[in-house]
Amino acid sequence: MKSNDKDDLTQHLARKADIEKELYRLTPMCPYCDRKMKQCIANRSGKPFWGCPVFPHCSGFRGMRPRGAHRRRRLRAELAEVMRRIAETTTGGPDPADDT
Ligand SMILES: [Zn+2]
Repeated sequence: MKSNDKDDLTQHLARKADIEKELYRLTPMCPYCDRKMKQCIANRSGKPFWGCPVFPHCSGFRGMRPRGAHRRRRLRAELAEVMRRIAETTTGGPDPADDT
């Protein structure tokens, strides 16, 4: 492992924690039972919405705002990228592409 790989890894792990915190923050609570909700897809329309994690015991749901859904999609994509970099750093895989 090169000496600066360790610094990169520290940065990637910090970024990963930030993204996970942000995703958690963007997840609403169930209006009935106060649990963190999970993203569901409506059978009929195929549209995403927030459902209660203990459905059918609790029927709480919330609509999902398109802007919030877009932001979460971007954060998930960034999280995947950070995870890929962490894997590369820890396994000594190929260097990240230099795309400058
Ligand atoms: Zn609930």
